Amino acid sequence: MWRFNKFKISKDVKRLLKIHFKKEYEVGGVVFAKNKFFYTEIETLSFKKGAPLTITFNKEDTSLFEIPKGNFIVGTWHTHPFQKEVNASSIDLNQWKKWNKKFIHLIYNGEKLKIYTSKGGLISVEKI
Ligand SMILES: [Zn+2]
Repeated sequence: MWRFNKFKISKDVKRLLKIHFKKEYEVGGVVFAKNKFFYTEIETLSFKKGAPLTITFNKEDTSLFEIPKGNFIVGTWHTHPFQKEVNASSIDLNQWKKWNKKFIHLIYNGEKLKIYTSKGGLISVEKI
């Protein structure tokens, strides 16, 4: 589990978000991170696409992706290509509530990346 409330997004993640962002449909997946000295670094992402997009992860899902060495699952990410300003939807909030409260959730609209807590609280906003 992550130790700090401070998250740093790796260059790799920024690159992946830009490459996989599609205007036509939502993309998303699981977020992997690593604890550094005073922050948690979001290192990489797994992918899933489709509409409606439902991101789940339970024990069976681990067969869909491999957790990178030294990483742990820190939460989920997905895109909101149809939003000018990133806002978590009621579907998002309901889904997040069902998961581990310690998870964080990233939403990207092609310009801004917002990180939320499972309760929908905003942790950070970054232009990417
Ligand atoms: Zn959403």
